[in-house]
Amino acid sequence: MKDLILQGTLRQNTIRFSAISAKELVGEAQAIHSLSRTATAALGRELLMTAMMAGQLKNDTDSVSSIISGGGPGGNLVAVGRKGPFVKGTAGNPQVELPPRADGKLDVGGYVGHAGKLTVVRDLSMKEPYVGMCNLISGEVAEDFAEYFTASEQQPSLVYLGVRVDVLSGHVLGAGGILIQPLPGCPEADIDYVMSLAGSIPKLTKRLSEGEQLQQILSDIFSDGGLLFTDTLHPAYACDCSRERMERALLSLGKQELQQIIDEDGQAELVCHFCNSKYTFCREELETLLQQGAQP
Ligand SMILES: [Zn+2]
Repeated sequence: MKDLILQGTLRQNTIRFSAISAKELVGEAQAIHSLSRTATAALGRELLMTAMMAGQLKNDTDSVSSIISGGGPGGNLVAVGRKGPFVKGTAGNPQVELPPRADGKLDVGGYVGHAGKLTVVRDLSMKEPYVGMCNLISGEVAEDFAEYFTASEQQPSLVYLGVRVDVLSGHVLGAGGILIQPLPGCPEADIDYVMSLAGSIPKLTKRLSEGEQLQQILSDIFSDGGLLFTDTLHPAYACDCSRERMERALLSLGKQELQQIIDEDGQAELVCHFCNSKYTFCREELETLLQQGAQP
């Protein structure tokens, strides 16, 4: 099944939702970074959420980034989304594996840690990006994003994110998420309705991994919710790095450092953290860069 985001509204247009099924996208991240099972679930959840947020972007130059710094053995987790939606992500220690929790689930909270912050940067092509932050609740990612929306954006939200990984092979079996947000003026009864769904939503990923279609599952979950689909998007893992970006990164090191690289190594090799693409610069190219950098 192709990766998919379905957006729509519930009740009488008083609640909006976004739902995602993205097994391929999470599998791509796993392959690029050789993610452990636990890291696949952790970064996968962040990528699912970031893809849903990126699905709301309007302009080609807009972006939304999330940074989870929980102090756990996984290191910092970063995901960046842009219109498409296209997402990319990286984990500080992608190959760290943890034993499963007592209930048999992957220990995402243990991997991420919970003594830290979730930061969200929305760059909407204005002068300044909007930066919001909250303390992590559990490091389980969904709870942390729910807290972020509520505390930092004053937007109460129900967030579910799930990644199922085959215990033996480590392959991604299914990846799904839902973001539900009451719109301004939403009646109390409709909020109660959303709260009543909390029991059925966590079955989403299991059902996706059994081959059910996202649209059908949503129709079941919201069977009496006045479900209305408004948009269908196809999220993908894609990096937007380029030689030009790497040149800017080299220039940002400063003249002295660049000269040192030329003198000591005679070349430079840069690797993109998000897709592992390698960019090699020979001595002449570095010297040209240095001259450019020297200009005012
Ligand atoms: Zn890249």
